[in-house]
Amino acid sequence: MSDHRSAKPQHLVSVSGGKDSTACYLLAIESGRPFRAVFADTGNEHEAVYEYLSRLHERTGGPRVETVRADFTKQLARHREFVLREWPKQGISNEIVQEAAALHAPTGNPYLDLCISKGRFPSRMAQFCTSELKEIPITSQVVFPMLKRGPVLQWLGIRADESRNRATQPRFNRHDSGSYLWRPIFRWSVEDVWAQHRKHGLKPNPLYEMGMGRVGCMPCINCRKSELRTIAERFPDHIDRIERWERVVTSTNKRRSSTFFAAVTDPTDVDRPGTYAGIRTLVQWSRTTRGGRQYGMFFEGQQGSGCSSDLGLCETEAA
Ligand code: SF4
Repeated sequence: MSDHRSAKPQHLVSVSGGKDSTACYLLAIESGRPFRAVFADTGNEHEAVYEYLSRLHERTGGPRVETVRADFTKQLARHREFVLREWPKQGISNEIVQEAAALHAPTGNPYLDLCISKGRFPSRMAQFCTSELKEIPITSQVVFPMLKRGPVLQWLGIRADESRNRATQPRFNRHDSGSYLWRPIFRWSVEDVWAQHRKHGLKPNPLYEMGMGRVGCMPCINCRKSELRTIAERFPDHIDRIERWERVVTSTNKRRSSTFFAAVTDPTDVDRPGTYAGIRTLVQWSRTTRGGRQYGMFFEGQQGSGCSSDLGLCETEAA
């Protein structure tokens, strides 16, 4: 058995395709230490992210980025059994029960499978996506096997500037998994991050040039109004996909309602008091400059990230 106190640490860099984690990857190359790089594919990503990460090693001389994906096959089967067993007792019609049960089959898309298994989308108040889609797959599929061989140092591309929450994180700490977490670009500015790209002759992820302020889920549940508008203008296929997902997740829960954003309509709307707004409605609203007050409290309070994980695996939008 290896002695963790004397063994050299194994280095692991988490990358998302965003600028900060890429800068961290480049810093790891500069260190001259051997390291692994891992990307957690949520299934809610723009295709440019896959292309960028699949070629990062060719463009930089660093290691190939490994991809992990969460698998919800067991959770879906468990929840399907629950639906078939319990919903009829609650008086839910056989047609609805059978439709929901049939949809509890793995689609192969982690984000959608997670939402089906929970019967809902994540929200700012219940942000299970970061942990279920990123933290757990990276920890269970990469960090734990590495820990069997010796200590692990995870390099995280987190900057204090990104949010108040991130500014309170330490530069270095121990994670619950037993690995050590290091934030080597903690004091870097955005300009430092871009300078690091230029130093290595690496073009940033093209999504930034296309108007995105952050790279990550498309969209992220924490996105701002302007980000949603940009996605709808530049990448309407992704809005169509989310609309399809809303229909699927709606059919997998007994409320028969599920929306990607937990944005309520105006509670004083006498026709639909307290109902939630689907993505299509919110896209229409994102194009307005006036008259959209009913969603304002939800979106304008968003920082671009509610990521509470100390692994900081979801990029925040530049302030
Ligand atoms: S917080 Fe946003 S970017 Fe992170 S996993 Fe959830 S939806 Fe995706």
